[in-house]
Amino acid sequence: MTPLEEAQAEVLAACRRAEPVSLPVGEVLGLTLAGRVDAAEAVPPFRNTAMDGFAVQGADLADASPDHPVRLKVIGTLGAGRAPSQTVGPGEALRIMTGAVFPDGADAVAVVESTRSDGDFVEIVAPARVGAHIRAAGDDIAVGQELFPAGTVLGPGHLGVLCSVGCQSVQVVPAPVVGVLSTGDELVEGGEPLQPGRIRDSNRRTLLSLLTRDGFRAVDLGIARDDEEMIETALRAGVESCDAVITSGGVSMGDFDYVKAVLDRIGRMRWMQVAIRPAKPFAFGVIGDTPVFGLPGNPVSSMVSYELLARPGLRRMGGRPDDDLHRRPLPGVIDDEGWAGSRDGRTSYVRVSTRFDDDGRLRVVSSGGQASHQLYAMAQADSLAVSPPGVDVGRGDTVAVLRLTP
Ligand code: AMP
Ligand code: MG
Repeated sequence: MTPLEEAQAEVLAACRRAEPVSLPVGEVLGLTLAGRVDAAEAVPPFRNTAMDGFAVQGADLADASPDHPVRLKVIGTLGAGRAPSQTVGPGEALRIMTGAVFPDGADAVAVVESTRSDGDFVEIVAPARVGAHIRAAGDDIAVGQELFPAGTVLGPGHLGVLCSVGCQSVQVVPAPVVGVLSTGDELVEGGEPLQPGRIRDSNRRTLLSLLTRDGFRAVDLGIARDDEEMIETALRAGVESCDAVITSGGVSMGDFDYVKAVLDRIGRMRWMQVAIRPAKPFAFGVIGDTPVFGLPGNPVSSMVSYELLARPGLRRMGGRPDDDLHRRPLPGVIDDEGWAGSRDGRTSYVRVSTRFDDDGRLRVVSSGGQASHQLYAMAQADSLAVSPPGVDVGRGDTVAVLRLTP
């Protein structure tokens, strides 16, 4: 058997980071920045007020109190989005709304809560500290400042910052386009009636969804029958139009496992019996330069194989750094009767549900049937517990947990 780490290394060696492209900010959520971005504009671009109220000279209000309100002349009103035409002098106040340019002459904001309007005048019942509630130009982002280094994974806040400095497009590593092909004579498309011996294709929808969840661009390559020619045609079409291809089924030891045979013939392929449970059979190769992941057909196996082997390679293609390819294990405490370790030297990836208890510890329970065809428990699971071979674990034991979050 091949150790998982060796199989992962084999995959990563063939998965190269894609060439950077320039994309509009609206299309880069979740992508990796290929070069650093500097701020072309300051944020805020001008000095402005953080509160609704009156721009005043703070000295005028030194003695203001509810018993001795200070009366100032209101010289105008300024909302956000307009430029001031007036300067505030002694004894004057300019009514301003949050975000409005802070006018020259003034140095303090009398917040609206401590004011009373009185015709053309305002009565102010509290002092206003000089400088308070005034946002300086550039106090968030200065012109020319480095915003984000290359390698930053762009989240919603990053995109907002890019918009705030007027950045329209950025150099990013594009998300790989990944084709998904199901194989098997037994597979039925969609809602067609089930004839004897046939089953519905679930892997394709699952794998397409995993890819979408992880920010890759998923392409449906359909179903290929257990027929060498058909599989070859589908694979060639897949590598023609995609950056990587994922197949499910046809890589075990059965008589009709043609994916393995075709990959062997038209690509450079390594067929492995990975020392994990589920998802032992795994074929990985390249056709030309395009990685092809031959995942096993059992639904849980194809998901686990995707998580442990395909996802890290695709993340590398999408520009993730080497220390951010694999999920990082967290310690979890078993909260049910536990499970037996494998007796065949394979590490088990047990489908579990997790929750954090009041003390912040991760609690773990099995999510149901653990056979490789029992997709239901995998669907209920939010994590995989990593269970070394030969080690039985029980209530209260600590296991490594891979949380399957996006
Ligand atoms: P194979 O790896 O082709 O030997 O398939 C292993 C098991 O997975 C068999 O029981 C198949 O019927 C099942 N299987 C293969 N492909 C799919 C699929 N796309 N959806 C659901 N089950 C599948
Ligand atoms: Mg099959």
